[in-house]
Formats: sequence, structure tokens, C-alpha cells
Amino acid sequence: MSRKMLIDGEKGNSNEENVQYDFDLFVIGAGSGGVRASRTSAAFGAKVAICELPFNPVSSEVIGGVGGTCVIRGCVPKKILVYGSSFRGEFEDSKNFGWEVNEQIDFNWKKLLHNKTQEIFRLNGVYKRLLSNSGVTLFEGEGKVTDPHGVELTQVDGTKHRYSAKHILIATGSRAQRVPFPGQELAITSDEALSLEELPKRAVILGGGYIAVEFASIWRGMGVSVDLFYRKELPLRGFDDEMRVVVANNLEGRGIKLHPGKTLSQLIKTEHGIRVLTDHGEELIADVVLFATGRLPNTKRLNLEAAGVEVDKTGAIKVDEYSRSSVPSIWAVGDVTNRMNLTPVALMEGTCFSKTVFGGQPSKPDYKDIPCAVFCIPPLSVVGLSEQEAIEQANSDILVFTSTFTPMKNSISGRQEKTLMKLVVDSETDKVLGASMCGSDAPEIMQGIAVALKCGATKAQFDSTVGIHPSAAEEFVTMRSVTRHVTAGGKPKTNL
Ligand code: NDP
Repeated sequence: MSRKMLIDGEKGNSNEENVQYDFDLFVIGAGSGGVRASRTSAAFGAKVAICELPFNPVSSEVIGGVGGTCVIRGCVPKKILVYGSSFRGEFEDSKNFGWEVNEQIDFNWKKLLHNKTQEIFRLNGVYKRLLSNSGVTLFEGEGKVTDPHGVELTQVDGTKHRYSAKHILIATGSRAQRVPFPGQELAITSDEALSLEELPKRAVILGGGYIAVEFASIWRGMGVSVDLFYRKELPLRGFDDEMRVVVANNLEGRGIKLHPGKTLSQLIKTEHGIRVLTDHGEELIADVVLFATGRLPNTKRLNLEAAGVEVDKTGAIKVDEYSRSSVPSIWAVGDVTNRMNLTPVALMEGTCFSKTVFGGQPSKPDYKDIPCAVFCIPPLSVVGLSEQEAIEQANSDILVFTSTFTPMKNSISGRQEKTLMKLVVDSETDKVLGASMCGSDAPEIMQGIAVALKCGATKAQFDSTVGIHPSAAEEFVTMRSVTRHVTAGGKPKTNL
């Protein structure tokens, strides 16, 4: 077995080196982080096994499937539904461009659902092939830790096997969290929402995060009446406040009923649907109630205590900068560590793990300037610091540049929706600290801006970049006047 241990403290441990294990690495969980770590570790010459429950598209109980949350019940199916939903706006917008669209537009949910599931099956197969082509052994079953080097695998038929591994990597992701109030069992989570047999006519969503606003947009685009309840004044806590206002206005403009500062208190089953009671004494009837109230790390069934792996109060595995747990042979990447719960971050963590453990290149994931997007319609995308974060963290004054404009397409279609772009700049170094955009194609545009921020681009370099005309993206290189100048203490100097 070729095993080069390159982590400080393990070199020269001859007893360890003489122990024979079934595998160099056993990965529990074949989602984004687990699959990436398996493949890259195998490429470094490690003998790798990975386990995951089989994909069961009809069960919302079994959280399985090679590909994990992103591919099976997250980013990918969600984006397919966002595409499906976006056509409504396109049909509406096309009229002033000369298209005759019949008033009666039919949408066939079952057809989209079928095509979405087929695509998920295809991707599930692609991921399995990626593993086998990399020489990784895939076990279809549930893994549990038995000791610092042991994994017990339970297959679907109940058969149990034990394997030993020099290293164990936990990459079991997270699962949707439910809110404990009377009747909560009547609500669904995003797992079921992605595969509903029937499209609801009336949906109530609880939560103001990514999933809440994305599903509000998806369902509204499909003609569903949507009521969105969230505890704060604005959705998307943690994002730039000005962007949050725009998102809220856009959601409302597209016909979603917003209920800021409110939550649900009880659900009651009736013959007409689910009776929804709010903490403000209101009542609604809904066909579907969606909990989009955050996710919790998947650690409960891993038997981590047997090996002495420490978890925090949310159940997340505590890891060091290299993704190593409190037990030296056990590592963890992705949502199960609750660091930054995004697929590309899990991929980065998986790659760094492999480089560190099997590649001879100790590597820490770099969490600076990670771009992300919320696929509401139109989408929001950001990279770097929000205006509020920049002000909090700044040692020097902050210059804020904003551009609010009617996109060219909307000036013909008549859609009353503006695009907002923002750059946050350090007044001393001229470095762009953050960029954000709410408008069409924001995620596609922001990926390029993220490269610039990663390179430490200055505002002057943005300004000297030639725009692509006509595009919305060119606004990012033509914002010349300062909208706000905020002094280091957080007080506005100018408010232009
Ligand atoms: P988020 O953490 O984004 O949002 C959770 C929301 O639920 C918040 O608005 C929160 O309110 C609210 N909430 C939490 N507990 C309660 C409660 N007891 N009662 C009422 N409201 C409650 O979680 P999501 O479920 O939307 O998404 C989970 C994670 O998945 C995201 O954080 C993200 O990491 C990832 N994700 C990423 C996507 C992307 O990249 N496009 C898409 C979807 C998910 P409050 O703000 O008041 O605390």
C-alpha cells in the first residue's frame, strides 16, 4: 500500500506505518466533497473506498444517492426548476418584442418533474462512473464509524461489513431543519418540494434564506399563489442590505405576498387544505407549507462518539484548518462541518484534504472572496464584503459605488424591475473589497468579478477595463461617482 503521510506529527511513526488497513481512505458520503476527495486521493495513489445509500427518487426518507444533496436534491434539480419557472417572465416580456403569446399558457408540471428526475438519474450515473474510472471502490450502503480506523457498512438488505482504513473522511452533508410547533409534520422541506406529485395552487413558505426565496420564485413563476413568512424585516440575512431591499421588491413585483417580521405558529389539516396560523393571529389556507428554515449537519447516525470525534452544539464536526477532526485519523469536509455550506466550498475542502493527506502538499481551504448566488428571479450574486461588513471590518474609509438602472430588455418589455450593482472599495488601498448585483445573469457576471477580487483588483483597474457593450456587466467598469463615502468609524462623510 503506498502511503505517504505528510501531516506534521505523523512522519516517522513506525508502528502506524506497519499497520495494514483495508483502505488508505474510507469516505462516508458521496456528495460533492466526498466524491471530489475520493477521486483526488485516488489520483495521488491512495486505495480509496466510498459509501453512499442508493438513490431512491420516490422516497423523501432515504437521504441517499451518489452525487449528494447538490445533484440529487439541491442545486441541480433546483436550477432546473428555476429554468422551468423563468419562462413565464420570458413569455410576458416577449410581447413588446413582437411575439403573439396566447393568453392561455399551459404549464405541465409532471413533464418537467419527469425530465428533471431523468436528468438526476443521468448525473447519478455520471458520478458513479467518475468514481469507478478513478479506481475508487463504491459501496452502496450506510457507513458508521466504529473506532478511529473502522467503518461499519450496512447495505440496503441489512447485511453488515466492517472495513479498516488509515484515514476516514466524513462528508455526509446536512439535512433540512424543521420548526417544532403544533402540526409541523404537515409541512414539507425542500427534499419533497423538488419532487411534489402535484403542483400546489397555494403555497406558504417559512424562512427568508436561500431556499425560501428560490422556491418562492420557482412556484410563483409556475403560477402558484405564494405567501412568504420571515422573521426579519428583509429576506436574506447576511447579504448586503441594499440588495435585500431590491430582492424583496422584486419578489413582491412578481406577485409573491411578503410577510416580514412574522412566523407560523400552527398547522391544522382540513378538508380544504392546510390551515396555517401565524404568530400575528392571521389564518391562511394552503396546499403546501414549506419549511425553508436552515439545515443541520448529518452526524446523528454516524456513531461518532465511538471514536471520540467532537461535534459542536449543532452537531457539526469540529475540524482544524486542514479539515482534521479531534481524532487524528478522522477528517471531515462540506456541510457536515458547517463552515461555509456551498457545493464549490465542499469541493475546495475535498481537494485540500487530498493534497494534505496524500499529495504531500499541506493545503488549507481559503474562504476569502468566495462568490455565491441566490437563484431567485431575477438572481442575486455577491463576492467579498457587503457594505455593512466592509464598514465593520474597515481600518480605513469605505467608498461605495452603486448603479441602479433599467436593463435594456425591460425598457422594451415594460417590466418594472431595475438592476442594482454595487462595488465597495477601500479608500486607502483602492482595493475592491466587495461586489454585488441583483439582476439578470448576476451569477454569470459575478464569477468573473470574483477572479478580479481574488487577484486583489483595485477600483482603478476596474475603471481601466474596457466594457462589453451593450451589456449590463459593463456597468461594473463604468461606475465613476461615489454614492457614499463612509468614514472608518462607520459614519457617512458624504451622501451623494
Ligand atoms: P438559510 O440559513 O439560508 O436561511 C434560513 C432561514 O430560516 C432564515 O431566514 C432564518 O431566519 C429562518 N429560520 C431559521 N429558524 C427559524 C425558525 N425557528 N422559525 C422561523 N424562521 C426560522 O437556510 P436555507 O434553508 O434557505 O438554506 C440552507 C443552506 O443551504 C444555506 O445557508 C446555503 O448554505 C445552502 N444553499 C445554498 C444555495 C445557493 O448557493 N444558491 C441554495 C440553497 C441552499 P433568520 O434570518 O431570522 O434567522
